[in-house]
Amino acid sequence: MDPRLELADLARQTRDYLRYMASLGVARLPRVDPPADARPEPVPDALNATPIDAPTPAPAAGTETLEDIRADLGDCRRCPLAAGRAHIVFGEGHPRAGLMFVGEGPGRDEDMQGRPFVGRAGALLTDIIVKGIQMPREDCYIANVVKCRPPENRDPLPDEAAACLPFLRRQIAAVRPRVIVALGRVAAQYLLDTQAPLAKLRHRFHDFQGIPLMPTYHPAYVLRNPTVGRRGTWEDIKLVIDRLNRD
Ligand code: SF4
Repeated sequence: MDPRLELADLARQTRDYLRYMASLGVARLPRVDPPADARPEPVPDALNATPIDAPTPAPAAGTETLEDIRADLGDCRRCPLAAGRAHIVFGEGHPRAGLMFVGEGPGRDEDMQGRPFVGRAGALLTDIIVKGIQMPREDCYIANVVKCRPPENRDPLPDEAAACLPFLRRQIAAVRPRVIVALGRVAAQYLLDTQAPLAKLRHRFHDFQGIPLMPTYHPAYVLRNPTVGRRGTWEDIKLVIDRLNRD
C-alpha cells in the first residue's frame, strides 16, 4: 500500500476512535509512556549546541571537484597578495592527471593571462613534459603554492602560503595524482614543511599525504643556470618517468 494512503487511513481511524470515545463522555485519554529502555538517551545540552563558528569539515580525498574548489576560492582576499594581482591563477590541466607540477607562484605573464607557467619558464616546463616525459601538457595538472603574483616575483611569505595552501591541498586531493613534482626550493619547502635546501631534497621521492613527491629545479633556475639545471632536472625527471611506468 502507498505509505501516504496508509498514513491517511491511520489518521482517519484515529479521528473516528477519538469521536467514539468523546460520544461516551471521555474527555481525556490516559497517557501511556513507553518502557524506560525503549526511550532514547537524553543528549547533554553541550553536545546539542551548534558552535557559532564551526569550521567546515575538510572534505575527504576525492569528494569534491576542482570546480567546487574554484567556486569556494571565489574572488579571494584571504591574504595581502590579492591587492596586487591582475588574475587569480587557480591551476589548469587534467582533472584526473597522473602527474602534477607545483611551482611557487605566478609571475608577470601568468598574472596577465590567469594561467600557470605560460612565460619563458613555462615554455621550458612544456618542453620537459612534451619532449622529455612525452606526454601532452594537458594530461598533467599544473598549479602553484600561491595563486596570486607576489610583488617583484619575491618568494611567498609564510602567512601568504598558509592562506593559500589549503586550496592547493584540496586540488591535490581532488586530482589524486600518482606523482607530484615540486618545481624549485620554495614549492618543495612549503609542500614538505621543511627548511632543508633544495640540494638535499631533490633527486629522491618524499611523501606528500601518501603521494610520492619529487623536488627538482624550477624552470626559471634552469634558464639562468642551463648547465647544472638541465642535467639535474633531467636526472630527477627520469626517476619520475620510471615511477610512472612502474605501476
Ligand atoms: S594568494 Fe591565495 S590566499 Fe592569497 S589572495 Fe590569492 S588566492 Fe587568496
